[in-house]
Amino acid sequence: MDVIRATVLGFCGGVRRAVAMLESATDQCGTVYTLHEIVHNPHVMDQLKDKGVILASSLSAIPDGATVALTAHGAPLPLIAGIRARKLHLIDATCPIVADAQRVVAENEASKRFTIIFGDSQHLEVRGLLSNAGMGAVATEAMDGLIIPSEGRLGLVAQTTKSPEALEAFAHDLRAQLNARTDLVVKDTTCPEPVARYRAARELAQGVEALVVVGSPTSANTRNLHAVCCESGKPTFFVESAANISAPDFAAFTRIGLTAGASTPDWVIEAVERRLQQL
Ligand code: SF4
Repeated sequence: MDVIRATVLGFCGGVRRAVAMLESATDQCGTVYTLHEIVHNPHVMDQLKDKGVILASSLSAIPDGATVALTAHGAPLPLIAGIRARKLHLIDATCPIVADAQRVVAENEASKRFTIIFGDSQHLEVRGLLSNAGMGAVATEAMDGLIIPSEGRLGLVAQTTKSPEALEAFAHDLRAQLNARTDLVVKDTTCPEPVARYRAARELAQGVEALVVVGSPTSANTRNLHAVCCESGKPTFFVESAANISAPDFAAFTRIGLTAGASTPDWVIEAVERRLQQL
């Protein structure tokens, strides 16, 4: 079986940086606590657990004097304040691109501009963004039911994993609902990394018979990548590891395209690639 890799796949810069920071911290401190998964991938979490990373259920479950790491998604400000109040040692692995988006929301708040966040209000990154605006923000993925000030100063930003095209479409619909006196500033806070993976997958799909997407179903960007591959019309398989590759599923193919979400580590991708090549 010929296996063709997408030109861009796997760990993004923010996840690679966060994992490296955690590994370095465990080398120095032994045990490091987190309050959320560092990345949405069980293989990475298992590897970090072996090195001394403990996923705590709450801040109160972390012992005094311990080291706590924020994830690449960042964290709500009250949580960071709680860590500081406990005088725990804080390792901030927030991705710089997420930190930029947080700054935009904080600047909106400082200039009394109400922020609309185009994103999943329950996602950790978005909860962190919202916390930078106090009460002056709302997060949504749909225009239906959106309640915002009918006039005045508004700012629109996006969860970093949204595409610029989706943000522009949302901004277009939003402008259509606003009256002419509303001052809306749109800041593109999307991250180029997931988009690069989507584009590379579309290109890859043109030259193969079927596609394999490697990653965890709990990862939003990997689910989006899977959707992009399905849109190509080529048979698409979503696998978490090489163990999920079933030979009969691939019997009809001789040329397979391989891609992976931004939270999928290199060694999992390589294991899937080897397994496919053996078919
Ligand atoms: S996808 Fe982009 S914003 Fe998210 S962690 Fe990776 S580099 Fe940072």
